[in-house]
Amino acid sequence: MRIVIKIGTSTLAHPTGHLNIRRVEELCKIISDIKNSGQEVIVVSSGAIGMGVGKLGLRSRPTDIPTKQAAAAVGQCELMYTYDKLFSEYNHTVAQLLITGDDVKCEDRHANFSNTLNRLLELGALPIINENDTVSTKEIVIGDNDTLAAIVAESVKADKLILLSDIDGLYTADPHTNPDARLIHRVTNINDVIDLAGGSNGNQGTGGMVTKLQAAQICLACGCDMVIANGNDPANLYAILEGQEVGTTFTGGAL
Ligand code: GLU
Repeated sequence: MRIVIKIGTSTLAHPTGHLNIRRVEELCKIISDIKNSGQEVIVVSSGAIGMGVGKLGLRSRPTDIPTKQAAAAVGQCELMYTYDKLFSEYNHTVAQLLITGDDVKCEDRHANFSNTLNRLLELGALPIINENDTVSTKEIVIGDNDTLAAIVAESVKADKLILLSDIDGLYTADPHTNPDARLIHRVTNINDVIDLAGGSNGNQGTGGMVTKLQAAQICLACGCDMVIANGNDPANLYAILEGQEVGTTFTGGAL
């Protein structure tokens, strides 16, 4: 099975912007084990800006483009340094791919990026992808890693995309404000739930339910299942791959 795992900033970092060491160590261990069991894994990781904020000692996530790009330049190094160090402990080789909207829109560049990804998988490496935030301006930005992860899943014909976030999945209402909100375990028709999208709840990442449902649309259109699950418990990854009912699964066919 070919799996894309998207890790959101809120899963990787404390609200301070500094690395959540326990969480990231656990994630790298479990992803390594999943790879050892024979699955092909691609990681789409956010966290560059968030970690840059921590490392540069900024008081909050920047809103202006130059500071965001500067924070991403600093944070992306720390991100890859951390992944390289932790995955190396389990004998896995990481590869960094940074892409922009142009790399997806332009046919040749898209083909190059898909070919590189496929070759990395053949070589047994673990591709770790993020948007190239340091050069992404308004004209070429993909904008959020939920969409980026779905584009990656589509490009490499993945079987499953797992979005790890700070929420358990898609609810019938906003669980932060409505105590009657129920978790929806399975969605087979995106039109049934499209009205349930709210904005981004966290102050660390970019995505929210809107971007996750857009990602689900891309996945369902290309026959890839998508799961939204809570990244606070990295063991959710095992449970999802064992077919347990975790988070919200978007599927066009039988599980
Ligand atoms: N590319 C951004 C970062 O690494 C994250 C975008 C997102 O979380 O959707 O900080």
